[in-house]
Amino acid sequence: MAKQNKKFYVTSSIAYTNAPAHIGFAQEVVQTDVLARYHRLLGENVFYLTGTDEHGQKNVKAAEEAGKTPKEFVDEISENFKALKGILNLSNDDFIRTTDQKRHWPAVKKVWRKLKENGDVYKKKYKGLYCIGCEAFVKEKDLINGKCPIHKKEPEVIEEENYFFRLSKYQKQIKQIIEKDKIKIIPEARKNEILNFIRQGVEDVSCSRLRENLKWGIPVPDDETQTVYIWLEALVNYISALGYAEDGTKFKQFWPADVHCVGKDIFRFHCLLWPAMLLSIKIPLPKTVLIHGFITVAGQKMSKSLGNVIDPFELVKKYGTDAVRYFLLREIPPTEDGDFTYPKFEERYNSDLAKGLGNLVARVLTMAERTKIQEYTHIAVQSQLDQTWKNSQKALSEFKFNEALMAIWDLISFADGYIERERPWEVITELPTKERNQRTGQKVAINNLLFILANIAQLLQPFLPETSEKIFEQLGIKPDKKPWQFKIKKGKILFPKI
Ligand SMILES: [Zn+2]
Repeated sequence: MAKQNKKFYVTSSIAYTNAPAHIGFAQEVVQTDVLARYHRLLGENVFYLTGTDEHGQKNVKAAEEAGKTPKEFVDEISENFKALKGILNLSNDDFIRTTDQKRHWPAVKKVWRKLKENGDVYKKKYKGLYCIGCEAFVKEKDLINGKCPIHKKEPEVIEEENYFFRLSKYQKQIKQIIEKDKIKIIPEARKNEILNFIRQGVEDVSCSRLRENLKWGIPVPDDETQTVYIWLEALVNYISALGYAEDGTKFKQFWPADVHCVGKDIFRFHCLLWPAMLLSIKIPLPKTVLIHGFITVAGQKMSKSLGNVIDPFELVKKYGTDAVRYFLLREIPPTEDGDFTYPKFEERYNSDLAKGLGNLVARVLTMAERTKIQEYTHIAVQSQLDQTWKNSQKALSEFKFNEALMAIWDLISFADGYIERERPWEVITELPTKERNQRTGQKVAINNLLFILANIAQLLQPFLPETSEKIFEQLGIKPDKKPWQFKIKKGKILFPKI
């Protein structure tokens, strides 16, 4: 394995624990997982972090509604998010919880003290509108009919003496950083959005709440009357998990993050507040922020009240891990909104997985099982393979997961066409033995198809790891043990038709 030294640190956001996981977050952790797996395959030293964001008023409210203490409530929901690893086959190396007093709290306190030392935290009396849904102060001018445009609820009026963070001090610097792609924001439209936002002028932000009004949070160091503002402490998870508090080896090895994967609703915090905090405490900035959209269900926003929330656990139970991964990566655009419906899901499943991939594997292996494979040449299909690798890797390097999969499925179509042209089944079934032996070209074709399958399995590794493994098993080869010498062991149908 080459390039042992290169590191790759990738994070999802940490999930807010006021409700169990839905498929929007599943999309995010699956995207993050593809990046982690892909970079591991490149031989890089990868660290993949996910976790849960457990403090704040919204969690307290949700706990009250459930008749539980905040601690009981977030413990339960955090387990739900942790279990995504199993059902979605995630390869995360760690899971950080913001209620973790051993790892997270000391890091937050260290960050706070540094912000203060640098003169970036000050106290002032403040009156403002606070949206609990956003867990943020909102401006009058951003409201629609007096309500938060995202949460459709009237914000609360909060009048307190709080600490403020000097965000305004860093606006110029951050604008330049984003303009020059020192933090690369993907997609471009979001980059322009945040630049426009900064151009309108950035104000300092409240970064604590009175503890008597919000006890469920981390106390401000050296001031027990205040609780650290949830966003300020939540963002610290990306370094607290690495052992920032004690300047740990993981922190030295992996920071800065190579990619933060986040949703469009929270990207401003990642592209403005987070870099400003890092500039203040003088540690390097993340390199890329990848922003996904929202998943609607039959064109409507997922919500508890509409009862249309899609539970990833149920989806996986019904269709399997890789089918769900495939849908989230292929049907939902990586950086735009996408839509889920069961018919859409089943159509993708049947056409791409059952008929496309599954059928090709079964067909080729049936032929290969009944013929003696002698030749190990695959010249005729090599240029097609090269093209597929090129296209899928280019797409992946641009975070276009759907296009990378399209490239792989182009190869599947090519293989189907190749079978129709070469008619390799004739050498097995339709011809007398003597003539069969003369049809070497068709035998080579079967062999070529095995090479194509092996390449498909390899290309699928980061996307559908379990399916990839099954194909390798049926081919009787290991991905990294070359030259490949096939020992066909035809197995179960990969994706039975629904
Ligand atoms: Zn809101």
